[in-house]
Amino acid sequence: MSAAPTVTARIEEVRARMAAAADSAGRSLSGVTLVAVSKTFPDDAVRAVRDAGLLDFGESRAQALQQRLEASPPLAVRWHFVGRLQRNKVEMVVGHATLIHSVDRMALAERIADVAAAGDRVQRVLVQVNVSDDPDKAGFTVEETAGTVARLRQLPGISVQGLMTIPALHADPADAFQRMRNLRDDLRSHFPEVVHLSMGMSGDYEPAILHGATIIRVGTGIFGPRQ
Ligand SMILES: *Cc1c(COP(=O)(O)O)cnc(C)c1O
Repeated sequence: MSAAPTVTARIEEVRARMAAAADSAGRSLSGVTLVAVSKTFPDDAVRAVRDAGLLDFGESRAQALQQRLEASPPLAVRWHFVGRLQRNKVEMVVGHATLIHSVDRMALAERIADVAAAGDRVQRVLVQVNVSDDPDKAGFTVEETAGTVARLRQLPGISVQGLMTIPALHADPADAFQRMRNLRDDLRSHFPEVVHLSMGMSGDYEPAILHGATIIRVGTGIFGPRQ
């Protein structure tokens, strides 16, 4: 039994729904990057999704990312880091992830900047915002975000490219996404490199696109249910 047709069908459905959402928002689909969040799925599933045409993949644990990077034959995709990152694992991620979506505290940002600068790199990151003030979710408050971005801009080794959020389960996602968009617009008027909005997962990527997401992070919608 081959998994490939199933994956292909799921990707087609996600792409069709992305296109419809972009269309109703009057946006171009080229302004939305689909990141396939592969956590817990085998390397062969990553290969099947890659062979179906996706370039961007996400992992939420440093150890898992490292294993992907060591896969043989190489997976040859672009990796995004989307999960909680411990300071002692930063070296496993910096320079390997095209974008770290989940900078959720100043000490982590400083560690990323130090490790990147020591390797003569600039690590691209997003600042994670706890837009629904969910005690179970990481991230800066909306009120803290502008000051955080201003401080991170002073650090060599790190470049803030935008914001990321995971709304609370009980929150109205459209409302949360719109507040993120307003925050991004406000920041961008001061800091032009703050462009990206990483928001929307399998259950809510359509409202995210309607409200300006430039990156969506889809796991089960592409790979199928997790065990
Ligand atoms: C797992 C995960 C996703 C994807 O979730 P799905 O519901 O499977 O689409 C997106 N973002 C983050 C941060 C995740 O950990």
